[in-house]
Amino acid sequence: MVNTKRLLPLLLLLLAFGGFVVFVILPTPSSFSPSSLEFYALGTFIRLQAWGKQAPKALEEAQKTVEDVERRFSRFSPLSDAGTLEQKAGQEEHPFSEESLFLFSKALEYAQRTEGAFDPTLGALTRLWGIGTPEERLPSEEEIQEALTTVGHKDLQVFPERGTAMLARKGQIPDFGGIAKGYAGDQVRDILKSHGISQGLINMGGNITVLGNKPGGAPWKIGIQNPLEPRGAFLGILSLSGTSVVTSGNYERYFEEEGIRYHHILDPRTGYPASQELLSVTVVCEDALEGDALATGLYVLGLSEGMELVENLEGVEALFVTSDRRVLGTSGIPKIFMLTQGSFTFETGR
Ligand code: AMP
Ligand code: MG
Repeated sequence: MVNTKRLLPLLLLLLAFGGFVVFVILPTPSSFSPSSLEFYALGTFIRLQAWGKQAPKALEEAQKTVEDVERRFSRFSPLSDAGTLEQKAGQEEHPFSEESLFLFSKALEYAQRTEGAFDPTLGALTRLWGIGTPEERLPSEEEIQEALTTVGHKDLQVFPERGTAMLARKGQIPDFGGIAKGYAGDQVRDILKSHGISQGLINMGGNITVLGNKPGGAPWKIGIQNPLEPRGAFLGILSLSGTSVVTSGNYERYFEEEGIRYHHILDPRTGYPASQELLSVTVVCEDALEGDALATGLYVLGLSEGMELVENLEGVEALFVTSDRRVLGTSGIPKIFMLTQGSFTFETGR
């Protein structure tokens, strides 16, 4: 039974103030608390937040898609498309789905753009080092040289017109670990948008994509990890709307032996972890896939070459953090970045 005595004061209030009260009581859609979903996939903790009526359904669909990306591109599963590429290497072209061919083509495109610094065919090296797995170890020089002979992005052959792809040489092993999270982030963003969601936050480890502005209209504030401090300590803040931010760094996965840090971003030219002149590279651009491939590739290229490459790319900005505590931004960074950690300096250019 409805208690009319209790409702009476509210009804009188509504009558007295008419629509105004209704306006104040009913929150605007953007101020509803978000729906959120957290799960583990692609080797990282994933947190999705979205505002809007369709959000719960959209997030559920997003999780399935991320898990599907993991199944298709995991370098640990022989049943994945990565596993198939490895098994068919040097033998024959194999048919793949349009989405997988898209990822292969993109991986190849960024390998070319970074002149091989980003290389999706370095799987033999990743496996040898095993960084971030229980098998991680410092391999011998001979092992590294042998694995290096199987690396070469030009051997990833994609034939969209025939719907096939292959690795040209026997023994070659693909690794999409430097790009799959970004690809998945874009998929999630597109799913949220297709459900009419215009505000959301996609956080996949070092990869973040924001939809629109924060509820209330202000840009999102994204903290940039201080590579010298524990996770969650920031060195500065980016203010962003509707874009992706991807960071690659030497602090994400590594082991240490005799005081030397061996981290997970490998230089395809030497077979060893890339030089640690840089502690991290953060890329700001629309698509997380582009940000992901570039962040990994730029880390390998290093400050000077990396900066030059980004300044020649449309719609891409980057922040380089060096081991001597400098933060260097491309020309569009000062407008959106604030340094908050006094032990670093900030400048633009090289
Ligand atoms: P990210 O965290 O995006 O920089 O990606 C690092 C992961 O990508 C590693 O764990 C490897 O699986 C793979 N990877 C390492 N070095 C490279 C490289 N130079 N090019 C492409 N992928 C790489
Ligand atoms: Mg990457």
